[in-house]
Amino acid sequence: MPSGCLVPGCTEKSRLGQSVSFHGLPVKDAQRCKLWLRVINNHRVGEDTGKEIIKGKTICSLHFKLEDFDGRLFGKIRSALKPTAVPSYCRFRYGRRG
Ligand SMILES: [Zn+2]
Repeated sequence: MPSGCLVPGCTEKSRLGQSVSFHGLPVKDAQRCKLWLRVINNHRVGEDTGKEIIKGKTICSLHFKLEDFDGRLFGKIRSALKPTAVPSYCRFRYGRRG
């Protein structure tokens, strides 16, 4: 079951016709995975969350810069991330400043 985007406040879900792609956490690369989790900043998953739990999680392409993708386009969807890619845009505006 696709779980949608793990980033708090992001409501993207897999939808047909949407040019958003979903990317699994790099569970094989522990260092990078920790970095992702730190940036994602979701209270339900932390740097110590087990691999079994996070391996099914995905975040959507909205949180990556254009240069995080390897340039190959599959239709309108940029679905291939570079092996070094780390999400950048995980803070959403909630309407007021904290
Ligand atoms: Zn998202």
